[in-house]
Amino acid sequence: TDIGLTDSGLWRQRALVDGRWIDAADGRTIPVDDPATSDVIGAVPHCGTAETETAIAAAARALPAWRALPAPERCAILQRWHDLMVAATKDLARILTAEQGKPLAEAEGEIAYAASFVQWFVQEGQRSQGHEVPAPTADRRILVRKEPVGVCAAITPWNFPAAMITRKLAPALAAGCTIVLKPSELTPFTALALGELAIRAGVPAGVLGIVTGHAKAIGAALTGSPAVRLLSFTGSTPVGTLLMQQCAPTIKKLALELGGNAPFLVFDDAELDGAVEAAMAAKFRNAGQSCVAANRILVQAGIHDAFVERLAARVRALKVGPGTADGMEIGPLIDDKARAKVAELVADAQAKGATLVAQATAPPRFTAPMLLTGMTQDMRAAQEEIFGPVAAIYRFETEADGIALANATPYGLATYCCTGNMHRAWRVSEALDAGMVGLNTGAISLAMAPFGGVKQSGLGREGGAEGLEEYLETKAVHWAGL
Ligand code: ADP
Repeated sequence: TDIGLTDSGLWRQRALVDGRWIDAADGRTIPVDDPATSDVIGAVPHCGTAETETAIAAAARALPAWRALPAPERCAILQRWHDLMVAATKDLARILTAEQGKPLAEAEGEIAYAASFVQWFVQEGQRSQGHEVPAPTADRRILVRKEPVGVCAAITPWNFPAAMITRKLAPALAAGCTIVLKPSELTPFTALALGELAIRAGVPAGVLGIVTGHAKAIGAALTGSPAVRLLSFTGSTPVGTLLMQQCAPTIKKLALELGGNAPFLVFDDAELDGAVEAAMAAKFRNAGQSCVAANRILVQAGIHDAFVERLAARVRALKVGPGTADGMEIGPLIDDKARAKVAELVADAQAKGATLVAQATAPPRFTAPMLLTGMTQDMRAAQEEIFGPVAAIYRFETEADGIALANATPYGLATYCCTGNMHRAWRVSEALDAGMVGLNTGAISLAMAPFGGVKQSGLGREGGAEGLEEYLETKAVHWAGL
């Protein structure tokens, strides 16, 4: 398919193993479609156990030399990768939109965000510092060294096909690890384009492998291999649970970014326009297909009606259509299953008493953005991730009620709180069980800040100094006889 690339070399339909572009051993492929039309746009190799084991072996062979490179040299290669990514922004965005659906402007934003992780870890990777601790006797010294974990594996989802990859690959490579990536079967082309750019930047053969295909088989090979020392996974909690079990026999380090059920608290003392703006950002980015999307918008009674009225006007005005068309704000959902799930959650809420107050116009096949009020805890949308453009409003009375409602979930990834009272901002941000709190903002994803969850939302952090630490082991060297 011609998706209008300037650099057609970025359109890769093969897997990357040991520095070479390969087909599946049995020649099978998996088609990939455009969610806006369901037209097939290309195909990738249907790899399985054998190809994955080859990629792991290549990563293990490449490890000693990569690990031994001085950090500034590794980071210089990553800096070139970053620069190539930025230069190819338009093409990468076209690929991303073709397979994922989000509006082109948003896709370009994601490429910038994806590149920002590489930039961050280029810098952070040169500052991974050990230290010396005072020894108990005069003849001893104790050094604490930071060393790369070794061969790593990454499994990534379809909602942010570029950024979910660079936030794993960049710190791994900067730390001196080698890594095998399994991108989502729904969005492999962005991953393969990033792989092509990594090769052009000088990432040596084997240091980065990208295996497309059969999720279960590739996942089993990655998690089962004793050579793989760490798994970083972003996706659903059920798959995260399974992968954690599969990693148990070989005691791998784990970084898991799983589901969320983000509460978005709006207090009576919030600045109304700012709260609406923040809610729009937290809810409708990527058509709501994000693990930090505001799943439950909790609004205090005194500001409830005014907030709903303004949000309704914004929801009705959203422009919905193919990501490649001009001025679109909301693209298609990823597939039929996603559309059906959102429709079911809305029907369930309405059957249990919710009111549909506003709806945008949307072409056929597209899920219209909606605003529901009168939401209650017994509804499915209160417990499950909506993962679609539906703003669901719950009314609460006191601060304590709001906090209790916010925390009434087994998840703890993102939370948001809009208030003009600094004491309340402090109290609420401490009381929320979560890895992240957005105070008067719906935007909490930045390369320099640690991103991750508590409770069943996962383990570990990506971004920030913590994001590099995930890929480092600590070694204590005891030196005696001085
Ligand atoms: P989502 O709801 O975002 O699709 P998933 O957890 O289903 O979340 O998918 C996230 C990633 O996990 C994708 O790359 C998918 O292919 C992969 N995946 C799904 N099932 C398995 C499995 N059994 N083993 C390994 N990877 C899997």
